[in-house]
Amino acid sequence: MERRKFISALGLITASGAITNLNSMTNNITNKRSNKMAKFELPALSYAFDALEPHIDAKTMEIHHDKHHAAYVAKLNAAVEGSDLEGKSLLELLSDASINSAVRNNGGGHYNHTLFWELMAPGKGGEPSGALADAINSTFGSFGDFKKQFSNAAATRFGSGWAWLVVSGDKLVVSSTPNQDNPLMADAAVKGTPVLGIDVWEHAYYLNYQNRRPDYIDAFYNVINWDEVAKRFDQVK
Ligand code: MN
Repeated sequence: MERRKFISALGLITASGAITNLNSMTNNITNKRSNKMAKFELPALSYAFDALEPHIDAKTMEIHHDKHHAAYVAKLNAAVEGSDLEGKSLLELLSDASINSAVRNNGGGHYNHTLFWELMAPGKGGEPSGALADAINSTFGSFGDFKKQFSNAAATRFGSGWAWLVVSGDKLVVSSTPNQDNPLMADAAVKGTPVLGIDVWEHAYYLNYQNRRPDYIDAFYNVINWDEVAKRFDQVK
């Protein structure tokens, strides 16, 4: 209503191009935050909800992505809106030692899940190759030994959290974090860049596996996209 009055007052109502330009102009005038207000958005999955079956079921994927991840994004936006954190990148927020718990939990949740979806794909699994395989073998002894450590970290994380394969300095390290924390955070026990992660919150597996977290962890290896893990490893190295 207000905008229509403003537009007709300027006599530009007949020129649709002018109206469009005017719209963005008035938005900039009336909402000064608009320039730095790049809101965080829920990324679309690059595969269907049922694409990871039978290892991860469609219902779990749908609720996990559309409800859980969406809620982290909405709450993250709400937590930064209007504060001096608005406009900061996710990496800037997560590495900031002074962030409050709402930004920490929901920013971590947004980052971790975005990564998680990309690290999985249908028809994948198997073993890594190339420089990543060499690094895994030299660090852990063999791929089997790596799996043992990673699975153990995921299985023994008490309560809700994540297990990680982290590039920390020039080392590959297996670690785990509580809640939606991750290795990018200033106070992480193992600080670095996560290249693989598994969500061990019950919401990630309970519908299909109930209390059998170890079965879910075993199944996860069938959907790991090692090409994506290797890409991230190569970028950090
Ligand atoms: Mn989750």
